[in-house]
Amino acid sequence: MPQYSDVVERFLRYARTDSQGDPLNETQVPSTQCQFNMTYLLAEELAEVGALDITTTGHAYVTAHVPASEGAEDLPTLALNAHIDTEASVPGNGVKPQVVTYTGGKLVMGVVNDREVFTDPTINPELNDMVGEQIICTDGSTLLGADDKAGVAEIMALLERIHKDPSIAHPRLAISFVPDEEIGHGASLLDLKEHGATWGYTLDGGPLGVMNYETFNAAQARVHFAGFSVHPGTAKNRMVNAIDIACEFNSLMPGAAKPQYTDGYEGYILLHRQQGNVEEADSLYILRDHDAQKFAAKKDLVLEAAKYINLKYGKEVVSVEILDEYRNMAEVVTKHPHLIENARKAYKDNGVEMWTEPMRGGTDGAQLCFRGLPCANISAGYHNAHGVKEFVGVRELETMVDVLQSLVGLYAQPQNEA
Ligand SMILES: [Zn+2]
Repeated sequence: MPQYSDVVERFLRYARTDSQGDPLNETQVPSTQCQFNMTYLLAEELAEVGALDITTTGHAYVTAHVPASEGAEDLPTLALNAHIDTEASVPGNGVKPQVVTYTGGKLVMGVVNDREVFTDPTINPELNDMVGEQIICTDGSTLLGADDKAGVAEIMALLERIHKDPSIAHPRLAISFVPDEEIGHGASLLDLKEHGATWGYTLDGGPLGVMNYETFNAAQARVHFAGFSVHPGTAKNRMVNAIDIACEFNSLMPGAAKPQYTDGYEGYILLHRQQGNVEEADSLYILRDHDAQKFAAKKDLVLEAAKYINLKYGKEVVSVEILDEYRNMAEVVTKHPHLIENARKAYKDNGVEMWTEPMRGGTDGAQLCFRGLPCANISAGYHNAHGVKEFVGVRELETMVDVLQSLVGLYAQPQNEA
């Protein structure tokens, strides 16, 4: 007999399976061969739960379909997506997950280099609601990888349930587990035509109840400064110092729009990198805003600052190139409000109050939205992602399987589109 519920057993198995990505090898997908460990394991397990069309690719993607329950065959296919890679900023292979009963106060992961690795309710206030519950964490030497193996385990546990109980109502499901989400690839090479989904969800959110469907609009501005270098002894009325101009340009950027002074829906302009000498200098700015108009205004501000400086110097000393990176997925998701409302209902049916959180970054769902597959992001259940203090609650894992079951049930009925 397994010691834990199906979703927990799966999660522990996946957490122990090395699949950390490598940003230094980002031109290759997958960036690390070890991600195939997850690809092949999941392909086997998908077969065990009766999924069809199981496909693995040379890029470490694994996809499959699950036929609709009786009576829901004509409804649109629903996508469920999670990523198999884990973050690379701390050690992430050789994970030794442990299930502990939290008794309040410190949650100790382990002792590493004679120092206790722990969290507590002052760092994670949500622990106050988890006293007496089982929590999964590591021994403190690695991350846990619940981002996003919790999402993978929840989807797989749902498929196991459906396999065992054909009476569970659901539309045709398109399942995808993708590599290298943490370094920006994620669903980029997913064959959406073959996938055949009309809309869906990524399970890559934090604590139970979260819903993300808003991301930043994002662009970078590459600003070039052209100076004129002569011997400083003979520089009078001749030298044009490109570094000076770069500093002058930066002083025209609004101080309050720096990332260290913004949160929530406040966008920012970040001077990300700067290099140069008297002859020439380059500044890289990144521009972020949830609001499309405010985003456009930030681009204008950069362009106007360049114009002002060129006017002041009487020649073109500054040139700007603006490159769009990604767009706010809310533009797409709000055209399919059932993606938000059905998630709210599925959470609520399982005693969870949904809250929405604007993402101050991008996500797989944003990419899928603009490639033609509207997707919102819901909880995987993890806390303290991307660090050695990462943990996930057993209750959260188990509840998310119930939430998914409710959610696919809601999509076994026709949807009202806006
Ligand atoms: Zn993630």
